[in-house]
Amino acid sequence: MNFLRTLGFLLVSSAVAQDAASSSAADAQAAAALKILSSMPTCGLQCLEAAVATSPCAATDLACQLASSCSNCTMQAQIELCVVKSCTIKEALTTKNASVTLCHQPVRDESEPVCLTALTVHASVLPHARRQDNTTSEYEYIIIGSGAGGGPLASRLAIAGFKVLLIKAGDDQGESNDYRVPAWQPNAQEAPAMAWDFYERDTKTTWRKTDGSLYVGQDPPAGAEYLGILYPRSGTLGGCGSHNAMVMVYPFESDWEYIQSITGDDSWAPNNMRGYFEKLERNEYLPSSIVGHGFSGWLRTTLTPLTLVLEDQKLLSLIQGAASAMGQGLLTTLHGTVAGLGHILLGDLNNPGAGRDQTQALWQVPLSVDPKDYSRSGPRGFIIETANAVNSDGSRKYHLDLQMHTLASKVVFDTGSPPKAIGVDYLQGQSLYAADPRNAGAQGTTGYVCASKEVIISAGAFNTPQLLKLSGIGPKSELDSFGIDVIADLPGVGTNLQDRYEIGVVGEAPTDFAVLKGCTFGRLRTSGIAVVVSKKSSTQAAGTDPDLLMLGVPGDFRGYRPGYAYDSIKEHNHWTWATLKAHSHNNADTVRLRSTNPRDTPSIIFNSFDTGNTANGGDVEDLQAAYEGVQLAREMFDKLIPLDGKFHEIWPGGSNVSTETEVKQCIKDEAWGHHASCSAPIGADDDPMAVLDSKFRVRGVNGLRVVDASAFPKIPGTFIALPTYMLSEKAADVIINGL
Ligand SMILES: Cc1cc2nc3c(=O)[nH]c(=O)nc-3n(C[C@H](O)[C@H](O)[C@H](O)COP(=O)(O)OP(=O)(O)OC[C@H]3O[C@@H](n4cnc5c(N)ncnc54)[C@H](O)[C@@H]3O)c2cc1C
Repeated sequence: MNFLRTLGFLLVSSAVAQDAASSSAADAQAAAALKILSSMPTCGLQCLEAAVATSPCAATDLACQLASSCSNCTMQAQIELCVVKSCTIKEALTTKNASVTLCHQPVRDESEPVCLTALTVHASVLPHARRQDNTTSEYEYIIIGSGAGGGPLASRLAIAGFKVLLIKAGDDQGESNDYRVPAWQPNAQEAPAMAWDFYERDTKTTWRKTDGSLYVGQDPPAGAEYLGILYPRSGTLGGCGSHNAMVMVYPFESDWEYIQSITGDDSWAPNNMRGYFEKLERNEYLPSSIVGHGFSGWLRTTLTPLTLVLEDQKLLSLIQGAASAMGQGLLTTLHGTVAGLGHILLGDLNNPGAGRDQTQALWQVPLSVDPKDYSRSGPRGFIIETANAVNSDGSRKYHLDLQMHTLASKVVFDTGSPPKAIGVDYLQGQSLYAADPRNAGAQGTTGYVCASKEVIISAGAFNTPQLLKLSGIGPKSELDSFGIDVIADLPGVGTNLQDRYEIGVVGEAPTDFAVLKGCTFGRLRTSGIAVVVSKKSSTQAAGTDPDLLMLGVPGDFRGYRPGYAYDSIKEHNHWTWATLKAHSHNNADTVRLRSTNPRDTPSIIFNSFDTGNTANGGDVEDLQAAYEGVQLAREMFDKLIPLDGKFHEIWPGGSNVSTETEVKQCIKDEAWGHHASCSAPIGADDDPMAVLDSKFRVRGVNGLRVVDASAFPKIPGTFIALPTYMLSEKAADVIINGL
């Protein structure tokens, strides 16, 4: 059989079928198959040919190929399986837009051995039949948003016996490889079925050209529409917990002490907050006798095995270079053994020890990855487990309904004094929000659902302030300017938006990483991030926490722009040391309404460095710290012993960007962030800019809380997902137990 001829026949058949009767379901399938087949990378063709040859269908029988008689349900699943088995990361990413779903079965590859980061996509199958029956029209709690803040909270409230509705703008992509495969996380961040793309502005500015394609840069062609800088978020079930890089870093004790001190609420004390971490974590890399960790929660945490590092001299040399730059001297211990590496890399970044926060060292990175099948662990799994849980007699155990493709447009209040939130207006339909790359202007159908106890907004740092304002809660002047009736004049809504400053130094080696050679995409089993370095910049006073976290990324990563997922890993000979500046002083970023249309994105302005908060020289300190991060990254490259070749800097560019002034200007131009937070902050009772009290209640109204990353008054730690999961667990405790 000449497979390519067969393929051609299938394409022609489907095209003919389309012409003949374009409205039938068969034609829709054929059209989908056409799209999938035409984007099949050649690396998977041989595998597909073999599959077709052994299938019971005639090779030219499209209907049969698409029907259940074919192995793995459909052609699409078979193609995915072949891509996973046969293609490299680079090749596989070219298929990312081919994820038209004909069937929802996960693909499996149990035959392959493990290589670098070893992921076989043979995860256990989560139950399909999610309960969406909305078995009551009256819920006690309605939660808007299923991310790090809303997801765990919804599950906990349902487990406590309440009737809960979780409203979700997107749908569930939890069985796609984009969601499951840790190494596929950049792809997850750009997958149209999951993405919500916001835009802000700097040299990475994106424009939409008149032909609809995108241009990135500062010299757009005539007529191009200004978009801004890509800021990825996720609209799918699990929110950003379903596309993030899975790095799980415990925040600093000082982060919790700060909230405790400004609110006078001792339940925020670090010791108490540690309990929420223990509750949510299912640690898979330490013995269960270790204190300060959890071993039975919903979030699985693992480390990338050190044996994988030992397979590659380049990785070893990068770690050695980092250790030398950190003053560890030379590494008699680096004998190419796991024990030797264990002396250099500390193993428990999230330990509860008194000295943990202050330690400056190299660490292995905990990832939210399930070691059973090397798939992503996150709030989506907890939601699905809760919604699908049954009693021994098969009856439903918890009342958690999921309402997908539902964009909350407004929280509705009664006329009491103060007003009480009693329900939610929404629009129902797919891809209604303008940040969804598939959005084509659909209006959706309107709906309303009421809540007998509370409405909880967990829509994330951009959408929570947008929804509050659309509901009449925000700065009076802004609401007035849009003709929105004021329910509560809270000037802090949409102010205080914060993020980290991040900047990368990219090194290129003459040859590929050995562990990536010949390693097909389907065998990757981490998000790729295995090592970090914690370091204190010169701007930190004695006794304060390290403010720099240097993240080792196996790729060429310079920030977010359309196509970055592919660009950053299309070659296998790059390494980025990315600096994350913690505890930055900038709190001058804003989220403002662009219109009263809930389907519009808001205007998001990041006022970085000297365009933002310059009080007490905070901007100068932030810039200095980021500069020291860049210099440390360069030192880490310079000090490596080239066991398998040296790296030379290709970004920001060695001699082109070498003086302190040049490096600092580059940081101001190029720094990015991806931990947006603090835009509806908790604060003191006498703080006019406080939006929430210490129990997450929106000030000035009853029955409304905010539980997500926007609730932090100051951006916590070095990574924000884990602190947000902890905050979500705390909110559940507060609501269930009145704490
Ligand atoms: C590319 C990327 C990588 C990241 N990697 C890491 C990492 O490795 N480690 C880490 O600690 N952090 C990481 N983060 C950050 C972290 O994942 C997020 O900050 C965190 O998930 C925020 O949680 P949240 O609940 O505030 O918001 P989200 O997770 O964004 O959840 C909000 C949800 O609400 C939904 N929603 C919004 N508005 C509405 C509406 N009107 N109606 C219905 N639904 C609505 C959204 O679609 C979304 O699903 C990453 C972030 C990005 C963007």
